[in-house]
Amino acid sequence: MNRRSFLTRTSTAALAASLTPALSKLSAATATTPAAAGATYPFAVSPLAYDFAALEPHLDAATMKLHHGKHHAAYVTNLNAALKDHPKLHGQTVEQLLRQRETLPAALQPVVRNHGGGHLNHEFFWQIMRPVGTAGAGGQPGEKLAAAITAEFGSFEKFREAFNAASLRVFGSGWSFVIVDHATKKLKITTAPNQDGELYQTDRTCLLACDVWEHAYYLNYQNRRADYLKAWWNVVAWDIVTRRFAA
Ligand code: MN
Repeated sequence: MNRRSFLTRTSTAALAASLTPALSKLSAATATTPAAAGATYPFAVSPLAYDFAALEPHLDAATMKLHHGKHHAAYVTNLNAALKDHPKLHGQTVEQLLRQRETLPAALQPVVRNHGGGHLNHEFFWQIMRPVGTAGAGGQPGEKLAAAITAEFGSFEKFREAFNAASLRVFGSGWSFVIVDHATKKLKITTAPNQDGELYQTDRTCLLACDVWEHAYYLNYQNRRADYLKAWWNVVAWDIVTRRFAA
């Protein structure tokens, strides 16, 4: 068990009972995992921590409302429907389901990959954004993360250029990520098609993810993915990303 999944588990009721309320609250707050981490069937979309309009003008309210309330919700509905008749799997988290995907019944495998992956990616995506003007949003990474970015990419600006370029190269629908590889301790920009991703992998920590499906930007930016990416940096919650790096 890595430290983060340990933290996640320790923030659940089992251990919370033995902690003072203040400490219990603190460990939940510092876990910096998706809000639904540790959740099992039936899965649910976590409420946003901000209003649909809070990320404007960068991400418009109509897109946020559809994206969270329809697209993300559909992944969860489909995942739950497929798991309904598999009670033996009802104790599994979405990360666990994704990790053991190839051992699942054949009909479940694509559902877990696409809809389970979609649920996990979106839970994370909502969490690493916050309104401009609030602490941590659109600013700069913390000192140690900034140093790691400079060491790997030359500068913060070059890092963002590399991330945007990788995000633009995703053909069709997919995601771009920033991870720390546990073996090399290095930062790496990766991409994945559809709803594949980095969040359930145990040999790396995912720091950042950007949804580059057209549904994430088309209402406001139409075909201009580059403009969406440029705007998206304004709402990245760097304090949360920095905490994930330090964890
Ligand atoms: Mn999406």
